[in-house]
Amino acid sequence: MNSEYIRHANFGWLHKPPLPPACCHCLIVQAGHRVVLVDTGIGTHDIAQPDRRIGREAIAAAGFIFIDSVTAKSCLEQAGFGVSAVTDIVLTHCDPDHVGGLSDFPEATVHVSSEERANLDSDNSRYSPAQFTHGPHWRLYETDDSEFFGLRSRRVKTSIDTDIRMVPLFGHTLGHCGVAIKSQDRWTFHVGDAYYLRAELTDDKHPIAQLAMMRADDDRLRRESLDSLRRLSKQPNVDLCGYHDTSELPAMVPKLEDVASPNTPQPS
Ligand SMILES: [Zn+2]
Repeated sequence: MNSEYIRHANFGWLHKPPLPPACCHCLIVQAGHRVVLVDTGIGTHDIAQPDRRIGREAIAAAGFIFIDSVTAKSCLEQAGFGVSAVTDIVLTHCDPDHVGGLSDFPEATVHVSSEERANLDSDNSRYSPAQFTHGPHWRLYETDDSEFFGLRSRRVKTSIDTDIRMVPLFGHTLGHCGVAIKSQDRWTFHVGDAYYLRAELTDDKHPIAQLAMMRADDDRLRRESLDSLRRLSKQPNVDLCGYHDTSELPAMVPKLEDVASPNTPQPS
């Protein structure tokens, strides 16, 4: 019997004016004492050594803001979960703002598509190798063994008895996937960076599309993935959420101005 509980959380902030602040919307899937995370936001090691972990150029380009109380480790501790409760982490992709918390949970199994891992191992400069030096316990997925509303999907094997799928939404990166989690008769579908703002689903000419295009490893694939999401968004029992759109976070999640103190380094 499934008894999972899915929570929407924010594990980091990015702000690159004139764009509005962007969150790092992650999922906490709790089953008993075990926790599965979808993406990990900005981690404590990023905060301790930002230049070494991410690099000054990438920090300035994306507008990273480093706030201790917003990390996955800190938020889970506040909810009563120690580091060892996190048994599994499912990644949409390996960009620096999604993997910073990996090293805070070094014993967790890290699930990722084999295409994304290959992209990480290539010399693609979008990734920050210093965020992986702790040696994650990778588990790779390459076989489309199941279907998800007409899309191919891959069953993710975690420590909890919950139906979790990777759904290839390639383009933003070469191995970028959405992550779908079934709870009772509904699916929560985290689309990662397949859109930056939900408005892209309805507005073909949204100004943010320019940034999405620039950041895509393969823009043709990215646009195909976005079209898949437009179809999927019409499914009545699928709830989509993306990583960076603050309007998709629950209202109770603190806003940037609530957590950023005057001492918090701000982007220049
Ligand atoms: Zn991102």
